Amino acid sequence: MTFTTRFAPSPTGPLHLGHAYSAMLAHDMARAAKGTFLLRIEDIDQTRARPGWEAQIYDDLRWLGLNWPEPVMRQSDRLPAYRAALERLWDMDLLYPCTCSRRDIEIAASAPQEGVERVLGPDGPVYPGTCRPAAPPPGAMPRALPLRLDMARALAMAGTPEFTETGQGPGGQSGAISSDCKAMLTGIGDVVLSRRNMGTSYHLSVVVDDAAQSVSHVVRGQDLFEATAIHVLLQRLLDLPTPVYHHHRLIRDETGKRLAKRDDARAIALFRAEGASPMDIRGLVGL
Ligand code: GLU
Repeated sequence: MTFTTRFAPSPTGPLHLGHAYSAMLAHDMARAAKGTFLLRIEDIDQTRARPGWEAQIYDDLRWLGLNWPEPVMRQSDRLPAYRAALERLWDMDLLYPCTCSRRDIEIAASAPQEGVERVLGPDGPVYPGTCRPAAPPPGAMPRALPLRLDMARALAMAGTPEFTETGQGPGGQSGAISSDCKAMLTGIGDVVLSRRNMGTSYHLSVVVDDAAQSVSHVVRGQDLFEATAIHVLLQRLLDLPTPVYHHHRLIRDETGKRLAKRDDARAIALFRAEGASPMDIRGLVGL
């Protein structure tokens, strides 16, 4: 199998040390395997993506010594591919429109009279199923409404998501991983696959694009380990291959907190401005 991996940042802020580690590790792994390292710009959230951040991503990564084939795939150019995947899932009776706001979900999920404890999944509070219809909605897929995946039906159709982990999940998970379907129902639930004003979602786009780019190995942070069960489920439903996953440790600040985009103090651009070299950055992240 030829080794193809990718680094897939969202241009919504400066790249920091955590991004540098992820990108350099993926690049190193591709080089060691005589494979390919791809860059993909995940800019589906057009309210937050900025061309200036995208330009800085290219600049920072080149400065770190990374290279990748052009042209770079941009998710904002790929809406028809996401639409086609959604249409397919709709025709399989696995999607339904949902008009709940975030606040509706918070309220419904914490309503004491229902005796439901508020559960937090990888995308926030687990959806309590307010809009889930008893039978699949008939007719054409609505274009303007957010769409959710009926998780119970999807798991019944696809079976248990399974994948190979060559890194480690946050609980030390490694090797042959079988996802816990019950936990997916209660802890993840009916995820949104098409968001309002986006026509897609992170989970759907990443799955469609990893397949379109023939990504054989996904190298990314442990914070996305839990989302992998959703990704493998979607791959099964859409007849797409499942790559090998390599989840890596997260770079934390001195208090042990994971770095976020707003941690400008650890922005690569700042280290550059202060005269650090790419080797210094490698040292800082332990590569
Ligand atoms: N775009 C995602 C992020 O910036 C990464 C997605 C992935 O590696 O699967 O966190």
